[in-house]
Amino acid sequence: MVQDESYRNVVINGFFIIVILMQTFFSSFLGVIFGSLFGCLLRLLPPLDGNILILISFPGDILMRMLKMLILPLIISSLISGLAGLDAKSSGRMGTRAMVYYMSTTVLAALLGVILVLSIHPGNPKLKKQVSVSIKNEEVSSIDAFLDLIRNLFPENLVQACFQQIQTVSKKVPAPPSPLDLIRPLNVTGLSINGSQSNSSSETSVPTMVTQKKLEFKGGMNVLGLIGFFIAFGISMGKMGEQAKLMADFFNILNEIIMRLVSMIMWYSPFGIASLICGKIAAIKDLETVARQLGMYMVTVIVGLVIHGGMILPLIFFSITRKNPYKFYGGIFQAWITALGTASSAGTLPVTFRCLEENLKIDKRVTRFVLPIGATINMDGTALYEAVAAIFIAQMNDVSLDAGQIATVSLTATLASVGAASIPSAGLVTMLLILTAVGLPTQDISLLIAVDWLLDRMRTSINVVGDSFGAGIIYHLSKGELAAIDAKHDAKDGTDMVKLHMMNHDSIKKPTREGVNTPQFSGYASLPTDEYEVQVEPSLHL
Ligand code: ASP
Repeated sequence: MVQDESYRNVVINGFFIIVILMQTFFSSFLGVIFGSLFGCLLRLLPPLDGNILILISFPGDILMRMLKMLILPLIISSLISGLAGLDAKSSGRMGTRAMVYYMSTTVLAALLGVILVLSIHPGNPKLKKQVSVSIKNEEVSSIDAFLDLIRNLFPENLVQACFQQIQTVSKKVPAPPSPLDLIRPLNVTGLSINGSQSNSSSETSVPTMVTQKKLEFKGGMNVLGLIGFFIAFGISMGKMGEQAKLMADFFNILNEIIMRLVSMIMWYSPFGIASLICGKIAAIKDLETVARQLGMYMVTVIVGLVIHGGMILPLIFFSITRKNPYKFYGGIFQAWITALGTASSAGTLPVTFRCLEENLKIDKRVTRFVLPIGATINMDGTALYEAVAAIFIAQMNDVSLDAGQIATVSLTATLASVGAASIPSAGLVTMLLILTAVGLPTQDISLLIAVDWLLDRMRTSINVVGDSFGAGIIYHLSKGELAAIDAKHDAKDGTDMVKLHMMNHDSIKKPTREGVNTPQFSGYASLPTDEYEVQVEPSLHL
């Protein structure tokens, strides 16, 4: 009976997945077609264009808002419940595997970008004269960026971390009259550090300028800080065992609820994605000119992303798991398209969770632990893009970089991708870091803005693919440990405890006394058997 019902559920789930996939695919296609048509029409009807564009993008805007709304509860509940289902040793090992994978693939991506941009050489000094530069020169030092990353990992106020993060801001200010005044104390809300003097003479009429550094809060969720805190929270909770059972159940159920909301949003997402794509394409002003000026640069980035996402990551996945990576791609197709539509890995996170857990049946203890971290720090596409863009700017300025500078570009591109927020165009901002590190004009970033709407979604989709392959690899490498934890729980709990089957969001049903003979489990909760029926669903694919 239970078996029959579970197979029926698998068939129904499979059917729904295929329907949503087809809807997503066709709606993206329609988005491109209608976007191009609207684009042509709007060029004929200039006075109306602002409002029409807003209306076209409106359903997409609503999709983005719904996805963003889920990020905070999803990150918190998934990290806590994922870590509470692991012991300290296995979470440590899983974390190490994740870090090794994230860092090695990101460095590989940056190196690939460097190799491609040096061999294709898309930058031409003549181009710079044709493209206008309109932003002011801003500089970001690598050490400041690195320290900000660490500061953000330890937020002083958790509530504030939900909507603000800290950043070092450098300003050139006139030097105070006496040198003694330059020494300012370090305090918590505003760090003042005396910087280098740009003009040594204080007697001339031109005021001496000094660089002053201050810590300021800027808008945007401090995901890194929240992740840091909730990892510690989940590990401590896991160590408390039975004592923390109530809390574990709470976060498990919260996570299930959020995933149900994600399933609902999935039905709306094809419409939203079509609108996002359509709105973006309709807004393009002068595609021809941009393509002529920046075409080769775009080709370099796109070729790099295709090689990394279509060959290097699948090869790494295959060599470790011996599974077909392109079948894996089928499972994450919807996350990939959502990333193309939203240009945000954080916004795509709910969909990535759903694809990996529902379509590919990856153990929830793995996805819940590694996906939020991956979406925040693992950005292969961004690293590749930033390396290409920085060297492209050097080529446009006719600056030839030596080997040391190229190594600096690769390293800072990796750091910049870790520091980039998982939101649209974040990579463009962290590029300041690379340009400052190799002494290139930071205002030249404005040359790239015209095509960032397209390259952003492409690199985001590779960021999401990288996170997903990472979760697949870590799951494969951690299977032994997960099975050992399951066996330990089996031996300890006997028949009094049942495992809360987290493979299927419809798993908790009305009270009954059915058996609980499941072939694979992925999480635990000490729910008494006479209160819940746990449905059986065989593990597929991986
Ligand atoms: N939009 C990218 C992301 O969310 C970040 C970037 O701008 O590169 O992953």
